Amino acid sequence: MKVTESPLLYAYDQSLDDWVDWCGQRGFPKFMAKQLREWIFAKREKDPQLFTNISKVAREKLSEEFDWSLPSVDTILSSEDGSEKLLFRTRDGLFAECVVMPSEGRTTLCVSSQVGCRWACTFCQTGRMGLTRSLSSGEILSQVLLANEKMAESGQKLVSNVVFMGMGEPLDNLDGVIEVCRTLTDPKLFGLSKHRVTVSTVGLVPEIERLGQEVAVSLAISLHSADNAHRGSMMPVNRKYPLEVLKQTLLEYPIQTRHGITFEYVMIKGENDSIAHAKKLVKFLHGLKAKVNLIPMNAHPGNPMEASEAERLREFQKYLSDRSIPAPVRYSRGQDVSAACGQLATKRMEDLDLEPHKVARERKKEIREGN
Ligand code: SAH
Repeated sequence: MKVTESPLLYAYDQSLDDWVDWCGQRGFPKFMAKQLREWIFAKREKDPQLFTNISKVAREKLSEEFDWSLPSVDTILSSEDGSEKLLFRTRDGLFAECVVMPSEGRTTLCVSSQVGCRWACTFCQTGRMGLTRSLSSGEILSQVLLANEKMAESGQKLVSNVVFMGMGEPLDNLDGVIEVCRTLTDPKLFGLSKHRVTVSTVGLVPEIERLGQEVAVSLAISLHSADNAHRGSMMPVNRKYPLEVLKQTLLEYPIQTRHGITFEYVMIKGENDSIAHAKKLVKFLHGLKAKVNLIPMNAHPGNPMEASEAERLREFQKYLSDRSIPAPVRYSRGQDVSAACGQLATKRMEDLDLEPHKVARERKKEIREGN
């Protein structure tokens, strides 16, 4: 998907086919397309003038015709746990966020795939924004480039794991996300292992099927309840794709990792954290190769839901592990800097008294007027 507002094409949006076409149209050799992608994503060079194996004429055209800037970083919040949240602005002025989480031996980046989200899960901050638009593949890849730039500056390990758990529903941006996954796992480009790229979804059935057919990556399902009526009340998507339909699709999904499919289960006090809920979960998981991440609810202003108590969490976890279901507790990193999905972008929009559609409209106008 291309962002059309800017007069210049965005360099990071160009797929291999796009570059092949461009080279053909400009009379440059088509093999240059691969070299360009390697400069951008493997050598992480963002000034085409420094592409030493590319002709001078081609370098000039590349500088003239494409926008090579990474998104501008508006705010960086450093958490005590070592994670950093980057709030960035897209070329049309919208806010989105990503979180870099270095830990021993790996650096995980949580990327956003959309500004906002249309699924309105009751516990999610991004869900309250509604959807403004999907991010383009280049806008997602440039989050990885931004994070790598930061890691390289501080002498830390470059991004080794990418999770699509920032703002948005990645499978509502399927073409973009597939292009990103291919670029991330291409051994000549980012070279990440397919085990280390995880797409997380509310459970869009046809899109899960297509994802499985088109790219090899790990899959995470945001489940949060294994009871249809209950899940439907927390996650409107369940009314469209109920649990039995979702399960059938998951049984057929080509598994990429040792532990199969990851299920995310936000533990919300008094909502979905009883042993009766755990029982239903075990029943749902029967026959699936599964791991469950138990995530204590990250509370946010204006939402009365809160995290389950530690004792409840332990009992729930024990119930699962006694039945051979691995169920680690995952605390959202960067809680002190509102790192949970969508919290910072929402806050910043409110601080500046911005409304996403208005920002996009005004930015388009500025671009038309040549600013
Ligand atoms: N739309 C995708 C990816 C984005 S959200 C999805 O739903 O999977 C990434 C994860 O954060 C999801 O599992 C989501 O349910 C979870 N999440 C959302 N709000 C949260 C909150 N307040 N506390 C903890 N986890 C939350």
